[in-house]
Amino acid sequence: MQKLDPVNILKESIAPFVISVEKVAHVQPNNTLEHALLILIKSGYTAIPVLDTNFKLHGLITKAQILDSILGIEHIEPERLETTKVSAVMSKTLARMKDYEPFERALSYSINHPFVCVEDDLGAFIGIITRSKLLAYLNGYLHEQKKTK
Ligand code: AMP
Repeated sequence: MQKLDPVNILKESIAPFVISVEKVAHVQPNNTLEHALLILIKSGYTAIPVLDTNFKLHGLITKAQILDSILGIEHIEPERLETTKVSAVMSKTLARMKDYEPFERALSYSINHPFVCVEDDLGAFIGIITRSKLLAYLNGYLHEQKKTK
């Protein structure tokens, strides 16, 4: 990642922190929960974005939501994985911001969200910013500060 001016970091654009769409594991609203669970397990992530074929963001889906959706009163009902669509279970409220918005907004979102979805002005999904990337940058910055004192 390019070196950002630490003094102005809070006002800087989040663009350098974005993991671009082609590297982001995702599912589509009409995929089955079985497919989504496979992607989540194989990728090792607990939550991933839901995008349509035009790369428009619809929500996010988590392993916990999928597992919750197959809980019957007394049994787990795995057959529901094949018949239920992602759109029926995903959350539609999520942390999202535009690619030109500042670092401070991403930082404040990342207190409660493991990742923030980034879109362009036309609403096309560009990628995500993860909490670990922001923390890694801040950690590096704080250590630099310590050395110069
Ligand atoms: P991290 O801060 O790196 O642990 O990432 C936080 C969360 O962001 C992960 O648990 C995933 O839900 C999501 N995430 C990170 N990288 C990706 C990726 N390449 N594709 C999809 N989701 C991701």
